[in-house]
Amino acid sequence: VHIKTANFVISNSEVAKCPNELLPEYAFIGRSNVGKSSLINMLTERKSLAKTSGRPGKTQLINHFKINENWFLVDLPGYGYARVSKKDKKTFQKYITDYFTQREQLVCAFVLVDIRHSPQQIDMDFMEWLGEHQVPFCIIFTKADKLKPGAIQRHVTEYLQELEKGAWEEAPAYFVTSSSKGMGRDELLAYIDGINLD
Ligand code: GDP
Repeated sequence: VHIKTANFVISNSEVAKCPNELLPEYAFIGRSNVGKSSLINMLTERKSLAKTSGRPGKTQLINHFKINENWFLVDLPGYGYARVSKKDKKTFQKYITDYFTQREQLVCAFVLVDIRHSPQQIDMDFMEWLGEHQVPFCIIFTKADKLKPGAIQRHVTEYLQELEKGAWEEAPAYFVTSSSKGMGRDELLAYIDGINLD
């Protein structure tokens, strides 16, 4: 699949200032260093698309890229816990929660996790938050080239089992990727295209 055009459109910290075009939108999010910039560059076949907005000071922003003039790829910053509320319920930064609760164009959130690590509490909490707010999401496992196939399968299973402990009707779809090997690219783009066709 060839990406004909991939253009940076705007960075901002407010959902209200995101582009108002009604194009389907796919958001990429994960803890820093998970391999998000590498994945975005691999998907779009651009060497440094994600870095365009990754300048120092630009990291805490919602970054919109228009792909093939027909969908938006949104590069979101790494999540972290905001303050703990009275009920002792952890929450995430406001621009992130605002984005997911308000952005009507959003079709799917891709939550990136490093395949080498066991499920981390913050990632599970974030997926649970998405579920509670009825935000459709998929998991993208990154850096699969670092593990042998058997270990990949073990880690994926571990994640899915951890997710099953939550109140899920069905497990989310997932993709096993490696940016350095181009692994998972066709599957991800087909998934995005497939949803676009509906
Ligand atoms: P970001 O902070 O989530 O945008 O992560 P980056 O894309 O900057 O990647 C963080 C580090 O992981 C860098 O050193 C990358 O070279 C490395 N990395 C990213 N993707 C892969 C991958 O698919 N395979 C391997 N082996 N390393 C990767």
